[in-house]
Amino acid sequence: MVFKTVNINSLSKEQRGHALTYSTRYFAEEIPRYEIPDGSIPANVAYQLCHDELNLDGNPSLNLASFVTTWMEPEAEKLIVETLNKNLVDRDEYPQTQVIQERCVNMIARLYNIPENCTAAGTATIGSSEAVMLAALSHKWNWRQQRKGQAADKPNIVMGGDIQVVWEKYARFFDVEPRVLPMSKDSYILNPDDVFNAVDENTTCVVGVLGTTFTGQLDPIAEINERLVDLKRKSGQDVPIHVDAASGGYVVPFTQPQLPWDFRLEQVKSINVSGHKFGLVYPGIGWVIWKDESLLPDDLVFKVNYLGGEMPTFNLNFSRGSSHVIAQYYNFLRLGKEGYRRIMTNLMKNASYLASRMIESGLFEMLSEDHSIPIAVAKLKGDPGFSVFDLSAKLRQRGWIVPAYTLPPDAESVAVLRVVVRESFSRDLADILMKDITAAAAELEKSGPCGPEPEGSDGLHHKIC
Ligand SMILES: *Cc1c(COP(=O)(O)O)cnc(C)c1O
Repeated sequence: MVFKTVNINSLSKEQRGHALTYSTRYFAEEIPRYEIPDGSIPANVAYQLCHDELNLDGNPSLNLASFVTTWMEPEAEKLIVETLNKNLVDRDEYPQTQVIQERCVNMIARLYNIPENCTAAGTATIGSSEAVMLAALSHKWNWRQQRKGQAADKPNIVMGGDIQVVWEKYARFFDVEPRVLPMSKDSYILNPDDVFNAVDENTTCVVGVLGTTFTGQLDPIAEINERLVDLKRKSGQDVPIHVDAASGGYVVPFTQPQLPWDFRLEQVKSINVSGHKFGLVYPGIGWVIWKDESLLPDDLVFKVNYLGGEMPTFNLNFSRGSSHVIAQYYNFLRLGKEGYRRIMTNLMKNASYLASRMIESGLFEMLSEDHSIPIAVAKLKGDPGFSVFDLSAKLRQRGWIVPAYTLPPDAESVAVLRVVVRESFSRDLADILMKDITAAAAELEKSGPCGPEPEGSDGLHHKIC
């Protein structure tokens, strides 16, 4: 988020300060909203002011919009608090934290089936976005290296309209031409032939998504790999695949272990995953893994001499907390493969249950039938006289946060409702949600739609009913 300074002079006195309610028990002065206050206040009062104001946020348990973890075990929370004051970058001061990070990289690389003859490399990041930037940059660097003596000023990256916004950010930030392939009607995933036709000598890498944010489907990574292996045999051009497994990377290995999408495929050279999605850790952690250390350009790995030790780093930011790495490690130990398998299987079952209830209601058609990650994506059946945006706004009045959005352009403008089924979403909650959806639909049928349609085709819209 980018925030602007507020023109204080144009505000009334009330707008400039916090309206004090209960805390008048302690004092009766206004606290400026947009300037650091001149004086101090007692800790308990500051706490209460922050705490009360945050009550205006949505309830994380009823937030069905987000893939991001909203619940962890108390033991994990204890570890998180215990490690809040350790800077992950201080290798010399906190060597054991580094050992644990290294173990996590090993565990994830093996989960993704690195071949015996490869030495994988990887690092923790703030989330998949940072992970994506690092992986894509490495492929850009390697491509330039391979172009020795030839023009290397027009790099491109090939991906589908089903990508998350981070890929457009990467392309813009690092000056790479984004070749975004249009989605075909009722498929919403990459077509391997389109990928093959879009690739040329300036392609730095191809992106496949394991669990798209729009419909939860998997791009056909094995087929894309086949085309690119073919290309390599015929022309010598070696185009790497990066798999964006932000959402699917902790689901598919447990629910469909036989499905080849990872380092088992020849051209898959790097993978990112969000630890804070189905890795079941609170927000602030992602991972990037390269199939072999040789894929990491020396130029991009900085050996920083800091606080008494030399350390190689490949990250966009420097200091960060170590809690989330420890929390990820806790989950690996605590759950094991068996625990992740059990949770992911349950989530998938709950998602199918919700989908079947949505179909039964007669209101919806599902778009996420192939069910690879635990989400339910539905469009309204026929024209009931209101839109998914109206339904989303109505549900918000009950506290539910269920986003409505339109699918990527070129796939006709289909508006959908999406529910992400996380660990905190029980069958009981699914039944209550369905009751509320049915009631909201009945009300909307009577009252008609509320407010104007939102503009634009991306982002999550909430209108006020
Ligand atoms: C969530 C997501 C991202 C961004 O990940 P963050 O961890 O939120 O930075 C990128 N790609 C896909 C497919 C995602 O689902």
